[in-house]
Amino acid sequence: MKYISTRGNSPALSFTEILLGGLAPDGGLYLPEHYPQFSDADLNAMRAMSYADLAYTILSRLIDDIPAGDLRAIVDKTYTAEVYRHVRAGQNADDITPVLKLEEDFYLLSLSNGPTLAFKDMAMQLLGNLFEYVLAKKGQTTNILGATSGDTGSAAEYAMRGKQGIRVFMLSPHQKMSRFQTAQMFSLQDANIHNIAVKGVFDDAQDMVKAVSNDHHFKARHKIGAVNSINWARVAAQIVYYFKGYFAVTHDNRQQVSFAVPSGNFGNVCAGHVARMMGLPVAKLVVATNENDVLDEFFRTGVYRPRGSANTYHTSSPSMDISKASNFERFVFDLLDRDGAKLRSLWASVDAGGAFDLNQDGHFAKVPAFGFVSGSSNHAQRMTTIRQVHADYGVTIDTHTADGVKVAQQYREPGVPMVVLETALAAKFEDAIVEALGSAPERPADLVGLESLPQRFVVMEPDVDGIKQFISEHI
Ligand SMILES: *Cc1c(COP(=O)(O)O)cnc(C)c1O
Repeated sequence: MKYISTRGNSPALSFTEILLGGLAPDGGLYLPEHYPQFSDADLNAMRAMSYADLAYTILSRLIDDIPAGDLRAIVDKTYTAEVYRHVRAGQNADDITPVLKLEEDFYLLSLSNGPTLAFKDMAMQLLGNLFEYVLAKKGQTTNILGATSGDTGSAAEYAMRGKQGIRVFMLSPHQKMSRFQTAQMFSLQDANIHNIAVKGVFDDAQDMVKAVSNDHHFKARHKIGAVNSINWARVAAQIVYYFKGYFAVTHDNRQQVSFAVPSGNFGNVCAGHVARMMGLPVAKLVVATNENDVLDEFFRTGVYRPRGSANTYHTSSPSMDISKASNFERFVFDLLDRDGAKLRSLWASVDAGGAFDLNQDGHFAKVPAFGFVSGSSNHAQRMTTIRQVHADYGVTIDTHTADGVKVAQQYREPGVPMVVLETALAAKFEDAIVEALGSAPERPADLVGLESLPQRFVVMEPDVDGIKQFISEHI
């Protein structure tokens, strides 16, 4: 399997060749040159598989340059009940991503049972083990540079801490993450983890990462790698739980299932798109945004109009506070029948601070055929949804999942199971839960007292030269 760039101007490469990088040299994102197909018979064989078996079955179709036995061992080491231990009472950690039935045809898919209580652990733990394996094979080291609005950073750091040959430089918006998120990241004392708090919003931090990555000389010299959501291996890992969730709520493959996905950078729901393209019987992919509704605007109007940082709001579902959806380019590439030249012209206007409109040449009319629909949510609706779900089902959900549940309700159809992806546990966003329910959510015992641990971080202006200098001084 070779990987090609959405912008059509980079050589096709194998999985391990793109694993450690970020953007393709032409500024595009990598996608497999074709999507492997799972037939009805394949799906039948996969239906009863354990999570690790399912992950191996899917990933081995996307990764052909890691020997089968080695890939198997990496997957087995990653998807264990011990790593994904923070399940609700009554759920089985061996399922890795158990479903929770709220009512008939309405489910939560629990993706946030890993070390940092957010779905990003699902992919990041695999990435940590893949990186360690590939770097050891090649005799190389890497310096991971990333930007986070909260959950990516902690998931990356918990996946990479103490790993040989890997250093992490993680930028986050200064004082804009929850106390829990901040403590989770900044309390890590591992020598290979560097936390950098940037005075600005998430996009300022992300722009710094992009600027460093576009300096090809600096990037090569300092062996800069990426784990942000554009990394293909993360998307690949996330494909697996759409299959797992599908099998958990159906009896046979004739049934269709809809998935509602709290979305920011479009990485999670992009994996749902790929799962559907591989043959998973998906009815709808419901893109749920918060007040930062750039994606909802596109799926309603056909206009993609990224915002500036002045128009990016700090919300109570902060891990979705983005102004441009990095992974969206992957879907648009498929929507354009993989026309790299056309995509380049669209992103030339986006990268120059503009917008594009896909109504003109009929591309927007094809969106429903891909299953996508959307909606947005605001703070008051999140609070109402958290209260409703608590009252109706006795289940406490976090603010991001609440955005998903709120929008999912608009798109439920009789006889079609709707599965809402639970992207974080409520314990991670305590203040918002106290506001909604009047009391703090239960916190896993191993994380009690997290906020009083000593913190290790530096504060920096949103300055590209500053971060370059910091990296040079710390490698
Ligand atoms: C990252 C994140 C999201 C958004 O996921 P994308 O893949 O960026 O769309 C939603 N909820 C939580 C809790 C997250 O951490």
